[in-house]
This record gives sequence, C-alpha cells and structure tokens, in this order.
Amino acid sequence: MFRRKSIITVLATGMFLSTGVVYAQTNGAPNVQADTAFDNKVIKKINAENMYNTIKYLSAVPREAGTEGEVRGVEYIEGQFKSLGLETRRFPFPIYDYKTNRELAEVDGVDLKGHAFSGSASGKVTAELVNVGKAIAGTVPDDVKGKIALVERGEITFVEKVKNVAAKGAAGVLMYNSSSNGNNFGQANEEIPAVAITQAQGKELVDRLKNGPVEATLDVDIERIEKTSYVVEAKLKPNKNKDTGQIVTIGAHHDSVPNGPGANDDASGVSAVLELARILVNTPIDTEVRFLTFGSEERGMMGSSFYVSQLPQSDIDRMVAHFQMDMIGGAEAGEDHPLGGLIMYTIDGQKNLVTDLGASASSRMYDVAVPYGQLGRSDHQPFHDVGIPSALFIHSPVEPQYHKPTDTIEHISKEKLQQAVSIVGASAYQIVRPDTPALDRAHVSPASVEYKFEDRPVD
Ligand SMILES: [Zn+2]
Repeated sequence: MFRRKSIITVLATGMFLSTGVVYAQTNGAPNVQADTAFDNKVIKKINAENMYNTIKYLSAVPREAGTEGEVRGVEYIEGQFKSLGLETRRFPFPIYDYKTNRELAEVDGVDLKGHAFSGSASGKVTAELVNVGKAIAGTVPDDVKGKIALVERGEITFVEKVKNVAAKGAAGVLMYNSSSNGNNFGQANEEIPAVAITQAQGKELVDRLKNGPVEATLDVDIERIEKTSYVVEAKLKPNKNKDTGQIVTIGAHHDSVPNGPGANDDASGVSAVLELARILVNTPIDTEVRFLTFGSEERGMMGSSFYVSQLPQSDIDRMVAHFQMDMIGGAEAGEDHPLGGLIMYTIDGQKNLVTDLGASASSRMYDVAVPYGQLGRSDHQPFHDVGIPSALFIHSPVEPQYHKPTDTIEHISKEKLQQAVSIVGASAYQIVRPDTPALDRAHVSPASVEYKFEDRPVD
C-alpha cells in the first residue's frame, strides 16, 4: 500500500447501514446452492501453505521497483503462471529516480536551505514571488506568469499543484509545508524548478508579500536516472463455446518499499493472485480472468496506472470488476475487528459490484459481512478511474510492521490469508462461473445482504 495519505476525506452521507445488493442471477433469486457447492468444492482447495511459500520466497529479498529484487520477483511470478499453462506477458515501463546535485532557494541573498522536489526540473530562475495559496486549479492567478509561485502544501497532490501553476506560466515553485514537519517533501513531473521550504519560512514570505514585492532565486540541478519496472499479466480464457466476452481482473503489487522485505505488503496479495490462478485454471468459466501483479505501486500506483493506460477501450468496456488484494496476511493487523479486520475500500466510498460480492461471500462463508470504506492508495485506483467497479481488500488498521524491515514472514497469518483469498475467490467466481448470465455492469440484482460503511482509518 502506498504511503501518501488519501486526499479524499469528504464522505457522502446516507451510506450507513443501508441495504446492500449482491449479484444474483438476473432472472431469479441468488443461486445459493451453487454458491455453497463452489465454496465447498473449489474454495476449499485454496491452500494457504502454497501462499505462505510464495511469500517466503518473495520476501527473502526486497523488491523495490527498478531493482534486481523486483526482477527476481517478476521471474518467479511469471514462472508460476507459465507452469499453470497461462498466456503470460511482461509489460516494462520506465520509472525515474532523481539525483540532486544542487538545490538552492534564496530570498534577498539568504539561503533558505530548501529541498528540491523529486522530479523538479533543473534550471536557475530569479523572479518575484506570487502567493497562489494551495494552487488549486481555477484559483491560480494569471499574474504568476514568469514569476515564482509561492504555494502552500495540502488538499491536492504536489504533482497537481506544480502542474496547475506551470499551466499558468509560472517559472518556478517555492512550496511551504502545511505543518511544522520539515522541508523534505514534494514530487513533480519535471515542468519547472520546484523547491520545498518550512512552514515558518513560507508564512513569513506570505506576510512580507502583503507589504510589497519579494524576489527569490531558485537554482536546481537534478539528474534523471531511468529504470525499468514491470507489470505481469496472465490471461485465463473462458471455455470457447461459453464466453460472455467479459473480463474480471484480480491484482496485487509485487514491489516492496526500499529495503523492506514486504512479506505482507504485498507478497501476500501476490500469493493470493497465484493461488486463485492455480484454482481457476481447473475450473470451468465463461469469463476471461486476468491475473495481474504490478510494479511501482509503492511509488504511487505507477504499474497499475501504466497497465490501465495501455488498455484498448474495447478491453476496458469488457472489464466488469477489479479485485485488488494488498496486505491480506498481517497477523497483527485489524485490531479486534471481525475477520481479522478485513475491509473493502473503494475510491469513492460507495458500494459497487465488487463490494456487494465480497460482503455476500463473506456472509455465506464466515457469517460476517465484510464492511466497506473509502481509501485509495493502492492499485484499484486506476481501474476505478476508467469506470471499472473496483475495491481494495485489506486488513485495517494495518500492522505495526507496515513499511518496516520487520514486514517479514514471521508476522504472516495463514488463517488470514485463507479467509481473504477465499472471500475474493468466491466473489470473483460469482461472475466467471458458467451458470450465471453475463453481467450487466450497470445493473446488479438486489438481494438481502446488509453490510456497513465504516470510517476506519488504515493507519
Ligand atoms: Zn505499501
């Protein structure tokens, strides 16, 4: 799971304890008998030992995007898919590291000891400062053209802020923190020089600007280092004479944070993707399933964004559900919440097909309707953004080992792995099983599982 806190904080009302809907055969009542049969015969084949072994192998080495560790993980995942006879493809995409050689922000000859943004453009600029507040689109004044925008951190992403002022012709960005938490932050896409300073420095400059012009100099020299990260895709095609033409995607991210073994984050999710592939290759289906593992999730969902960006619209139109599993084995996650704290997060905080199916499956199998909540910060985001019903399955709040060198196999619970993957597997199977009709993305039949919205912070 990605570190940046979700910027989505406004929750819609009226979502509490409403009656949910579950996917059912559109021509009648839910096929409970068949559900149970599948749960018993197929989901019971899920073997947490396999998953545990995958996690053990993957977490032996950190899998930071763009490193040998990622490649080692990718080769293992590909090998597993290939051994199942799946059509497998590796998508390379570029990622960039930045080496800072010079990062100067100066006002009246005084060095503010600022830090250049990761992805700042190189260049030297001396110009007047213009206070543009938080640089929300539509609020940036025209007179920032050719000047240095003084920006406050917060509300929207760094990348958006820089983009918004660059679009107005700003020559540079001086961004101050919104808290007293230092001056080492900021990301941009190489538009203009961008330097971060402290909150106190920023507020002082805002005050000075009320009394007249203030000139600043930014001098940044940054080297861009290109690396390669990967997405792995394995396609499972439906039976030829029974093909709805639809696609279900099941994903996790294979990269870890730098120097982190990433056993739970997210070798656990990868192990679940592989285990579901193992089960489903031997199960008749009428819907294509794409098993996906993404690189560079920890850099801001870059693998999944890349994957979705290269999809033809005709594929997107056929995609009816995306199941994302990120951190589904943390023994110490979830506090005292039922089912180890399993929750389904959606980007908009609304229920959708995926959450309906998840709540229904968990009720059926464990007598607990998994709740839903609102959170981005994982690879369900790009799928949601193109209109595909998507949810993140995760135990929340996360464990104390999150993003630490202690995120190791010792803190993985086989029971939690088993539960999470069973719920996701049973949910996905509701769509891909041959005895249910093709799914209308816009229409889900009402049924009777109630599940709640929970405003549960993940960390
Ligand atoms: Zn993470």
